Amino acid sequence: MCIEERSESTFCIEEKEGKKEKKASGSNRASSLVTYRMDTCDYVCFTTCGSNGIFSRRLDFTLYNVLPKQRINSIEVKIEDEGKHGNDDTRMFVLSSLAAHKKTHIACILCKEMMMVYDRYPLVDGTFFLSPIQHSKDCIETKFEGRTCYLTSVCLECLDGTSPEKIFRCRFCAEKWDGSALMMGTMYSFDIFAAMPCCTERLKCNNCFKLLLHPHQRLNFFSDYTHSVTCPYCQSQDTHFVKPLDYCYTNKPLQQYQQWP
Ligand SMILES: [Zn+2]
Ligand SMILES: [Zn+2]
Ligand SMILES: [Zn+2]
Repeated sequence: MCIEERSESTFCIEEKEGKKEKKASGSNRASSLVTYRMDTCDYVCFTTCGSNGIFSRRLDFTLYNVLPKQRINSIEVKIEDEGKHGNDDTRMFVLSSLAAHKKTHIACILCKEMMMVYDRYPLVDGTFFLSPIQHSKDCIETKFEGRTCYLTSVCLECLDGTSPEKIFRCRFCAEKWDGSALMMGTMYSFDIFAAMPCCTERLKCNNCFKLLLHPHQRLNFFSDYTHSVTCPYCQSQDTHFVKPLDYCYTNKPLQQYQQWP
């Protein structure tokens, strides 16, 4: 990649990519040019032959300033690409799924605030996850390891509970949703809300509402809660532990019950 200064405030960025396909289609271009003004943009739009051509490049980490300093590290925030030559599977999956729907922004599933998606890690100021149910119309349908799922995202303030307006509680047990243990800027291949059941309401069959696990029993892996299971009582097969978020959470103050004197 070469960056060539054109004038005081305009840069020209040229990115060249090697042809991987045997036949290059007419719409594919080996190189592309984009210009941007330094004084009006705080990000760079890159256009390339790949599916990630529509995404912006992160130039600073200002939004991560809301995080406590000790959380800004490579364990809690995804920074590095895993694949060689920038071919990280997770990153490519997220970007190509979004690009197929021409989406460069995604709304937080809890607070509905729009987030920009970046072409490198951290992909978003929050995290992505895959759910077998469509939590909102904004969650795009995709296929992961042969199964249909929906690409969903949560912003870092909702994950962290750092903003008082973005505190979401379980409607049944009033426990605060806490996603602060999750890595930011990447994608989980399971429903992160289903993976952390706070009370027995979350462990019930979606059809007959009988308990599928004992109240203190937990499954081995976080991803187990996203799998389809058959209810032993009504035989209904479903992803029973994945519940609609509106059914489980609220950010409205829960009614305070006074204790009997
Ligand atoms: Zn949010
Ligand atoms: Zn609960
Ligand atoms: Zn059942």
